[in-house]
Amino acid sequence: MTHEIVHRPTFARINLDDLAFNFKSVKDFVGQNIEYMAVVKADGYGHGSIECAKKLENAGVDWFGVALPEEGLELREAGITKPILCLGSFWQGQEKLLLQNGLTPVIFQIEKAHSYNLAAFKLNQKADVHIKIDTGMGRIGVRFEEVKVFVEELKKFTNLNIEGIMTHFAVADDLSENDFTQSQIKRFNEAVSLFEQNGFNPKYIDLANSPGAIVQPDSLGNMVRLGGILYGLGEDVLPKEVEKPVLKPILSLHTKIAYLKKVPANETFGYGRTFKTRRESLIATIPIGYQDGFHRRLSNCGQVIINDTFAPIVGRISMDWTILDVTDVPNVKVDDEVILIGRQNDKKISAADIAEKLDTISYEITCGISRRVPRKYVGSE
Ligand SMILES: *Cc1c(COP(=O)(O)O)cnc(C)c1O
Repeated sequence: MTHEIVHRPTFARINLDDLAFNFKSVKDFVGQNIEYMAVVKADGYGHGSIECAKKLENAGVDWFGVALPEEGLELREAGITKPILCLGSFWQGQEKLLLQNGLTPVIFQIEKAHSYNLAAFKLNQKADVHIKIDTGMGRIGVRFEEVKVFVEELKKFTNLNIEGIMTHFAVADDLSENDFTQSQIKRFNEAVSLFEQNGFNPKYIDLANSPGAIVQPDSLGNMVRLGGILYGLGEDVLPKEVEKPVLKPILSLHTKIAYLKKVPANETFGYGRTFKTRRESLIATIPIGYQDGFHRRLSNCGQVIINDTFAPIVGRISMDWTILDVTDVPNVKVDDEVILIGRQNDKKISAADIAEKLDTISYEITCGISRRVPRKYVGSE
């Protein structure tokens, strides 16, 4: 039984209408004649994979991509019917889970092809798989020089259908590395030819992630695999200098002022006493901390928006609380709305703004918003 409980006022708002908007915007920009895989791994980059997948399924997405078979199972249990590709392959013992739930694995090791073929044989199935080629990412995939041998060996697995061949870009977001991306495309095309010469006829040929799809028109194949830009995270994962589709960040992070006090000059605040007031000040405390994914490294350098005004984070961020200097915020009072990510009229803080301070990318910011922060959805079907 579930009970509606009252939460502290800290939550992330996810606008699913903007998610559908981003998908349409990207599709209009990239092209109508290819298929679109929405990558919803890691709980949809922190936005909620089930809610996002339901919205995107209705919006016409062709495939979903997850990292793990168990993430695919969650989508199936929530009623998602479109094909699901498990980008991170599978682990020994998960073969049946895939086959019985219509999940398609990426494969790049002969042992996995062997065990999957055997499991498919036992269930009397012809099982679709996608083969990943490592053309320069160096992470997972059949190394491009070893494709020839791999293809030969694949022929003996008669219960497998090679439905797709894919690769993944290492630097598609960096135009100064265009030569490397071009060499990845070339290596990939050679690998695809080897499959074709050996009698395989894969339906899907896919290379591009978000930056690839926007920047490299010759990398579209017949499907693109998009994560970041669907969530509106284009700001720091697409090159600055290129034309791009209109994207709306779909997540905003909110809380309220829990406690407010007037304090004299020369008082210190928080663990380690790292902040000292220089003047009589108004100090606010908000109920969010590093356990929520509000990084401790934003201590004394991050900011929030209250009443259309930026207010600095002062002192150390602790596990559950953050302290703000709100002396310069007009009419500030307890329960005022605080925006940690998002916009209020002309003021804006994006996940990319925070990422820049932390020397990371926006994906890590949204992925890092912990489960303690409830997601509130706008535009659920
Ligand atoms: C995560 C992932 C993507 C999506 O990348 P974005 O930059 O978020 O578009 C595409 N393909 C693979 C193999 C991935 O692991």
